[in-house]
Amino acid sequence: MKLMITGGAGFIGSNFVHYMRKAYPSYSILNVDALTYAGNITNLASIEPADGRYRFVRADIRDRAAMLPLFESGVDAVIHFAAESHVDRSIAQPDVFVTTNVVGTHTLLELAKAHGVSKFVQVSTDEVYGSLGASGLFTESTPLSPNSPYSASKAAADLLVRAYHETYGMHVNITRCSNNYGPYQFPEKLIPLMIAQALQDKPLPVYGDGLNVRDWLYVEDHCSAIDLVLHRGAPGEVYNVGGRNERTNLEVVTTILEALGKPASLIKHVPDRLGHDRRYAIDADKIRTALGWQPQFPYERGIQATIEWYIDNAAWMEQVATGAYLGINEGHSTNG
Ligand code: NAD
Repeated sequence: MKLMITGGAGFIGSNFVHYMRKAYPSYSILNVDALTYAGNITNLASIEPADGRYRFVRADIRDRAAMLPLFESGVDAVIHFAAESHVDRSIAQPDVFVTTNVVGTHTLLELAKAHGVSKFVQVSTDEVYGSLGASGLFTESTPLSPNSPYSASKAAADLLVRAYHETYGMHVNITRCSNNYGPYQFPEKLIPLMIAQALQDKPLPVYGDGLNVRDWLYVEDHCSAIDLVLHRGAPGEVYNVGGRNERTNLEVVTTILEALGKPASLIKHVPDRLGHDRRYAIDADKIRTALGWQPQFPYERGIQATIEWYIDNAAWMEQVATGAYLGINEGHSTNG
C-alpha cells in the first residue's frame, strides 16, 4: 500500500510514521509536510535517508501545483494530519487556521478525488463538539459546536470530508480524538510545556482555576486507532477515539511535579484562555466494538513514559527551545 501522510513531521504525524513503518514494513510512505514552526524534521531522524519505502517532501497542502505531482506518483490512501493545531495561536491569528485546515483539506480532497485515491482519513479532534458540563460524553452523533477558531476550522474541514463521501462517494473516514500526549510534542502544549518548565524550576502557568478537564490519550494508542480505521473503517463513518482518562489541568500538572520531585509552589495561575472549553470527554464505544480498538497505555504508565522521554531527549528539547530545529528543517526539502 502507498500511503500519503500529511503533517508527518508534527507530533502525532511523526509518531504515526514510526508506528506504521514498524507495523507494516512493506508499505511505502510519502510524508508531505510544509515544516511550519510545528514541524520538526529531527522527529524522523532515525529513518535512513536512502530508505526506499520512505520519502519526505516539503510541500504546503494548500499549494495545488506542488501537491499535484505527488498524487500523480500514485497514492492508495491519504492520512491527513497536517493542520494548524494550537488553540491559543488560533485566537491570536485565525487566518492561517482557515487556509490550512479548511482550504488545505479541500485541496487534498479534490486531488484525491481526481486521482482515484481509495481511502481518505481525516484526523480530527473532539474539540469540534464544543464543551461539556460536569457529566456526559461526546458521541459520534453529538452536534458539532466548535468554540475556537481552531475547532471551527477543523469542524469545517470535517464537513467537507463528509460531503465528498455523500456527493462523490469517496471512501472517507473521520477520527475525532481527545487530547494526545507523548514523545515529540511541541512544548507549547500543556504536558511538554509543564515538563520543560518544571525541569528548569520555572513557573508552571495554569489557565484560570486549572479545573478544565481533558480526556488524555497516549499518542501510540491514537496511532493504533487510526491504523484500524485506515484498514477497516466503514465508508463515510466517524470514529471517536479516547481512553476515558479525564483529568483536570491541575491534576496533570501535579502528577508531573510529583514525578519530578518538584514543589507545588511552581504552579502559577494565569488569566484564563478566551472561550476556554470547560470539559471534553469521549465515548469511544463505537471504535471499540466495531473495530476492536483497545488502548494499551493506562494514563499512569503513559505519563511516566512521556516524562522519561523528555528527560532522555534533552537534546531534542534544547533544539526546540533554542529554535535550532528550524535551521535543521531548512536543510530538508525532500529526501526522495
Ligand atoms: P502539530 O501542530 O504537532 O503538527 C502539525 C503538522 O502539520 C506540522 O508538522 C506542520 O509543519 C504541518 N503543517 C501545518 N500546516 C501545513 C500546511 N499548510 N501544509 C503542510 N503541512 C502543514 O499537530 P498534532 O498535534 O500532531 O496534530 C495532528 C493532527 O491531529 C491535527 O490535524 C490535529 O487537529 C489533530 N489532533 C490533535 C490532537 C492533539 O492532542 N494534539 C488531538 C486530536 C486531533
